[in-house]
Amino acid sequence: MGKFDPAPVRAQFPIFSAPLRPGVALHYLDNAATSQMPAVVMDAVRAHDATRRANVKRGVHTLAERATDAFEAARAKLARFLNAADPDEIVFTSGATGALNLAANSFGALLKAGDEVVLSVLEHHSNLVPWQMLRDRSGVVLRFLPATAEGHVDVGALGRTVTQRTKLIAVTHVSNVTGAITDVAAITRAAREVGARVLLDGSQRVSHGPVDVQTLGCDLYALSSHKMFGPNGVGALWGKAELLAQMPPFLGGGEMIRTVTLDRTTYAKPPHRFEAGTPPIAQAVGLGAAIDWMNTLDHGAVATHLGALTQRILKGLADLGGGNGRVRVVGPPGLHGRVPVVSFAVDGAHPHDICQMLDAHGVALRGGHHCAQPFMESCGLGGTTRASLAPYNDDGDVDALLNGLEDALAKLS
Ligand code: PLP
Repeated sequence: MGKFDPAPVRAQFPIFSAPLRPGVALHYLDNAATSQMPAVVMDAVRAHDATRRANVKRGVHTLAERATDAFEAARAKLARFLNAADPDEIVFTSGATGALNLAANSFGALLKAGDEVVLSVLEHHSNLVPWQMLRDRSGVVLRFLPATAEGHVDVGALGRTVTQRTKLIAVTHVSNVTGAITDVAAITRAAREVGARVLLDGSQRVSHGPVDVQTLGCDLYALSSHKMFGPNGVGALWGKAELLAQMPPFLGGGEMIRTVTLDRTTYAKPPHRFEAGTPPIAQAVGLGAAIDWMNTLDHGAVATHLGALTQRILKGLADLGGGNGRVRVVGPPGLHGRVPVVSFAVDGAHPHDICQMLDAHGVALRGGHHCAQPFMESCGLGGTTRASLAPYNDDGDVDALLNGLEDALAKLS
């Protein structure tokens, strides 16, 4: 494993070619919300629309066939990235939110009143609200795993939360607030004991390299392209073929049917059954290009590089707190069991104020509840400020963050 140099990576991202404002460089540390796109991905989207733009699946003319081939090639790339057994296990959606709503509606249709779905208090609203909507219309019972003090899904509570009525455990693979990686092995073990399925929300995991859904042992996996250096407007739900085959469609319309009469419709096989209407074609092609780009990285070396930057942020926050608890990390205190996402709370300061003050230094952070209000409430916080890293981040970004924070804290005291 070689030492990772972020400079040549950064050079591939047009966003960094100009200052944020005259005299102020961009220090983009909001990657957990959306990562930046390298030029090759932008070029792939443009090339698709410039040379292959047509609707997919139904056309027999040359462009339509080329568009369909490119769309299906992107599906195959994502299948390899996830180590799916078959490309047809990949359902393209509008994003992770689309994937999770699909799961809650289509898998949810297999459930009956009294069946239980286990979530965690750490879930992004996208993996909570759709299940609440299912509960309200079908009588499914929701149960919740708590979070540990370090911001992990508390798998120690599985024994008292999972019951013989549990049909699904649906939890985040990595918390978007704390960066903590979930102990998936404990989740799948508990699920198998009662014959339940496992869904992982992989939105915050996929930006850190390939995932092996077969080794993880889950049944469904949701993700978004724009968090993995790809375009907006596309994401996916991976599902085991035998499970997708049991799930009814969620959205009805063109492309998802086998036959339609005025009385009734029969449905296509997965994944097409779940892809009603014209899909985000150029965006899916862009996602395929983003995967190709990610495959050029040495993910071990990137993890070491980002681990060192994360360690600097954690130490810098501890130093700024001065041991008086003014700055508190919400999440794992060290590098173990986390991705390079660091949330912190500053006593007496609103995260939005911190973000605005840091923006003056060119530092892009996210502040607020991060679409995880129940977790924030369980921490007794209205929100946190979050710095999240990607391979193009470097020591200069961490310097700007820590210097900007020092300045902000001085102004606020
Ligand atoms: N799940 C998690 C853990 C997330 O971090 C996000 C986005 O922040 C989502 C789901 C929703 O993703 P999207 O808005 O791309 O649908």
